[in-house]
Amino acid sequence: MPQKLLPTTVVGSYTQPDWLIDRENLNTRLPPRVRVQELWRIPPEFLEAAQDDATLLAIRDMERAGIDIISDGEARRESYSNRVSTALGGIDTESHGYAKDRSGRDNPVPRVIGKIHRARPIEVSDVEFLRANTDRQIKITLPGPFTMTQQAQDDYYGGDQRAMALDYARAVNEEVKDMFAAGADVVQIDEPYMQARAEIAREFAVEVIGEALKGVEGTTALHMCFGYAAIHAWQGLGKPDAYSFLPELNESAIDQISIEAAQPKIDLAVLEELPDKTIILGVIDNDDPEIESPETVAARIRAALKHISPDRLILAPDCGMKYMSRDVAFGKLKSMAEGAAIVREEIEG
Ligand SMILES: [Zn+2]
Repeated sequence: MPQKLLPTTVVGSYTQPDWLIDRENLNTRLPPRVRVQELWRIPPEFLEAAQDDATLLAIRDMERAGIDIISDGEARRESYSNRVSTALGGIDTESHGYAKDRSGRDNPVPRVIGKIHRARPIEVSDVEFLRANTDRQIKITLPGPFTMTQQAQDDYYGGDQRAMALDYARAVNEEVKDMFAAGADVVQIDEPYMQARAEIAREFAVEVIGEALKGVEGTTALHMCFGYAAIHAWQGLGKPDAYSFLPELNESAIDQISIEAAQPKIDLAVLEELPDKTIILGVIDNDDPEIESPETVAARIRAALKHISPDRLILAPDCGMKYMSRDVAFGKLKSMAEGAAIVREEIEG
């Protein structure tokens, strides 16, 4: 993929308009794993058109902010994962189950009652819409097989998490191939639960990622983080300053690893343990309501460049921007693009 030095991107989500989503409801619940129709302010017969319009707003904001590789803002989603995880075959559509969230609380989750498979394309039309409405490079995200396994109640596989994860991976594989065929430049799988459940991840996560990417030729990314800043703040949770599962991914089939770094101030020496990967580095602190200056962003980029060569570095916020106000989200993206330009100029002269 030809591109300029230090390109900017987003992790995935952008803030949804208040006319579309009930923000107070969204902000005072754990990220939904099952469908939560009451989050939408728009009646069902107008919802898809409203989501299209919200997607156009997100696209234009990212373009105006100067982002190089944009997403659709995930305006159609209640959470990063449930648009896909509730649409797969093998899921009980009548009743849900429960699983512990990363906060330790029970959260309603899809109940697996049959072999997991992709019954139909799910986000492929989202890619087509994004491709038709921007000339920028585009990235689409979907939940990864490991994370979906952790956000489900298994009533079919008899506790064989690896077998269940491999079936999720095959479903993801079909979707990923169709996303590239629909024009995606980058497909990202979101795997925050590799961090939340590092011990289980060590057992089979790399194998499962390999299955999800088998035969895939486009550029792939994997996002891993400590969880939404807003949800952590609401729950009074802190963040560790290091990943418990990360260097292992150097052995995976993924091209780009997206990590959170600005808020938790992780030791960037960990980048040296991923020598074969491009890093999508979080240089925007999603927990800080202040818009950081381009110079602050530039300083974070320079700190990373002590551990990684610029040709392997892409810049992004720490995580999705779903829980931010629009002016803050836009301002932060603009600062990020300007901060990247400062360092690019220093390198290229
Ligand atoms: Zn994240």
